[in-house]
Amino acid sequence: MNDPRIDQLYLPIRSAATELLDEAAKIGAFMFSGYRSLPDQKETYAQGRTVPGPIVTDARPGFSYHNYGLALDLVFEHAAGDPSWSYSHDWNTLGAIGKSLGFEWGGDWPDPYIHDYPHFQMTFDISVQRLYIVYARTWKLTDVWSWLDIKRGVVA
Ligand SMILES: [Zn+2]
Repeated sequence: MNDPRIDQLYLPIRSAATELLDEAAKIGAFMFSGYRSLPDQKETYAQGRTVPGPIVTDARPGFSYHNYGLALDLVFEHAAGDPSWSYSHDWNTLGAIGKSLGFEWGGDWPDPYIHDYPHFQMTFDISVQRLYIVYARTWKLTDVWSWLDIKRGVVA
């Protein structure tokens, strides 16, 4: 399955993300979101706080792994391709698939964080606060990715 949003993720997680989508499709789940810009994150954070709707993130702009192409959300499919967040779906199976591919799963997060069942991320043990500091040097995602390459030791 080729979702163009996969290409907006950090290159080293794209193959695992593609595999996750392939496996998720077998149980009726699909990609809902991947990379989110800071304005996108601002909108997502506002939901349930200053605009109507359920709270879907604890992360302010710049403090979500989505902002660095390191996270993606999957949801289950209703009839007719509609997304569904219903608790009746088999989120645990979806979470297990993601974890087997090396993702951290939002369904495992303890209180006080939101149990974020659709959420999968790869952090390479780098905190989002550190990523934000690097990002704020130039506000270029590619600079964050180059920095991450160096931190991961793949660039000499
Ligand atoms: Zn997410």
